[in-house]
Amino acid sequence: MLKFFNKYNFSFNYDLGSKTWFGTGGKCLCYITSDSESVIRITLKYLKKIFPVFIIGAGSNLIVRDGGINGIVIKLGKAFSKITLYKKKSILEIGGSAKDYQISKFCLENNITGFEFLSGIPGTLGGNLKMNAGCYGQEICDNFLECVVINSKGKKVLKKKDDISFGYRSSTLGDDIVISAKFRVIYDKKKKINDKIKTIIKDRKKSQPFGVRTGGSTFSNPKNNSAWKLIDAIKYRGKTSGGAKVSEYHSNFLLNSNSATSLDLELLGEDIRTKVWDKYKIKLEWEIVRIGKHKKI
Ligand SMILES: Cc1cc2nc3c(=O)[nH]c(=O)nc-3n(C[C@H](O)[C@H](O)[C@H](O)COP(=O)(O)OP(=O)(O)OC[C@H]3O[C@@H](n4cnc5c(N)ncnc54)[C@H](O)[C@@H]3O)c2cc1C
Repeated sequence: MLKFFNKYNFSFNYDLGSKTWFGTGGKCLCYITSDSESVIRITLKYLKKIFPVFIIGAGSNLIVRDGGINGIVIKLGKAFSKITLYKKKSILEIGGSAKDYQISKFCLENNITGFEFLSGIPGTLGGNLKMNAGCYGQEICDNFLECVVINSKGKKVLKKKDDISFGYRSSTLGDDIVISAKFRVIYDKKKKINDKIKTIIKDRKKSQPFGVRTGGSTFSNPKNNSAWKLIDAIKYRGKTSGGAKVSEYHSNFLLNSNSATSLDLELLGEDIRTKVWDKYKIKLEWEIVRIGKHKKI
């Protein structure tokens, strides 16, 4: 087994927290950025029986707890970031590690609409599908047709849209690792697409914190309500706890404002949930994915 780890550059005791947008949290037992499908398949087929295996994208929707993960973390390498347009079939194929800004830029260059919203999101295609990322009336599942995944048994499987349920910031992809996905192509005028992107970027700059360590929206919006409105109603905008802070710009954004730990962020989040429940009997659900274990004190 050690031979396999060494051959494919697995890093041990790797500082995983630094790979996330929050920049907080502990280490993982083993980390690999892989450009090889077969390495991912072997890791899942054989090593998942011994260690938990987790996939990360850009780490933009992730809190790694301070005690880290006693398992293997995989990140898809550049080989999985290819974007291909099949003009005759009107199909767009996107690799699992393609970054959102690359996807939206490619679509703009090729007059493809439906992906403008990705210019405001800092994730990767794989993370987008898992979370069913969306904003400004668009979601990644809108034009989605099918994806190739490696499942938890290390098998390569084609999943059609009907095989997956997409909900609000959720999907039933489970432990599947998305290698690539295909989308229906809808064309529009370049100017219209560009104008939409410009509006999104301008609007984001006005309404969201920029250049800060955050994980985007902390909680999903409850039915017929907005998480930020509820957080404002309990007067938590700007609230700090340890090194964590509720953003002044957007109260559903938590920030690592002063060398926060992941525990600082989670405790502030849980405090918000308790206060909102006590006052409104509304249960806020974490949108940010939290993994690993708490550090022993
Ligand atoms: C400033 C900011 C603004 C944001 N705005 C929005 C927004 O407007 N709308 C929105 O929806 N989100 C938003 N987000 C959240 C985040 O960018 C999205 O959820 C994004 O889709 C996560 O992608 P990621 O690659 O960073 O995934 P990660 O954070 O790395 O992981 C998130 C989940 O996806 C899984 N995952 C990652 N890669 C794969 C893969 N290849 N196959 C299968 N599963 C995978 C992980 O296991 C994990 O469960 C924002 C975040 C930030 C920091």
